[in-house]
Amino acid sequence: MRILDAQLADLNSRFASAEPLDLLRFVHAVFGRRCAILTSMQRAGTTLCYLADRAQLDFDVLFVDTGVLHRETLATRDELAMTHRNLRVITLQSERSFMQQTAEEGVLYLTREGQERCCDLRKSAPLQSVKGKYDAFIGALRRGEGGARANVKPFALDPEMNAFRIHPFANVSSEDLENMAARVPDLVVNPLHAMGFSTIGCFPCTTPVRPDEPDRAGRWRHLAGVEYCGINPIDRGAAGSIEVADRYREPLGLSE
Ligand code: SF4
Repeated sequence: MRILDAQLADLNSRFASAEPLDLLRFVHAVFGRRCAILTSMQRAGTTLCYLADRAQLDFDVLFVDTGVLHRETLATRDELAMTHRNLRVITLQSERSFMQQTAEEGVLYLTREGQERCCDLRKSAPLQSVKGKYDAFIGALRRGEGGARANVKPFALDPEMNAFRIHPFANVSSEDLENMAARVPDLVVNPLHAMGFSTIGCFPCTTPVRPDEPDRAGRWRHLAGVEYCGINPIDRGAAGSIEVADRYREPLGLSE
């Protein structure tokens, strides 16, 4: 059955104020191993992994290594994999190294067009390599982040991946997230946050931010107007439809 965004309305009102863990349990029961957490190892993502792991929800965790990540981010991935034994951390990479790409195409990230291509090659394409393996991807996007994410809902569609996108933290404020993280002494937290990085990405395109700046001010600071890499469809304003297996129809309450 083919479904459009509008057909998620009932599902989204059902989970509009659900606790993140309740939503995680629900999607694990519905999708099982055909659902994965997608994280870049920022605090919200590792908090999501913590909740899933401690509830013994054995999700795959997909991490896209662009080849130009800070060593702290790679160390965070390794620590998460070591300490969250119910989860299976899988690293996705581009076909070419960053050096090969630069030798063949130049330093892409310095221009807006180049950045779009670089993010496509190093972020979106590695995710595309698992298309068909998963029917749902869980992310840590929150409405409180504002911008393109101001309307994020618990369930959304990803037409490019023909999958659901699930956002257990859609309703969680920054304050709630900080409180949640503070209550968990063994939460794995990327050390870059303590170095002034409010959000974390590739080192050529990410800087710390001043206290008076918006959280995403440190992303693509050298390129006016660029805020997102595009790996999340909501950031691209992408809309469309996906093909859904019949077995999901009843648990998700989808009607034609
Ligand atoms: S964030 Fe920068 S370095 Fe990373 S993939 Fe995008 S353009 Fe390339």
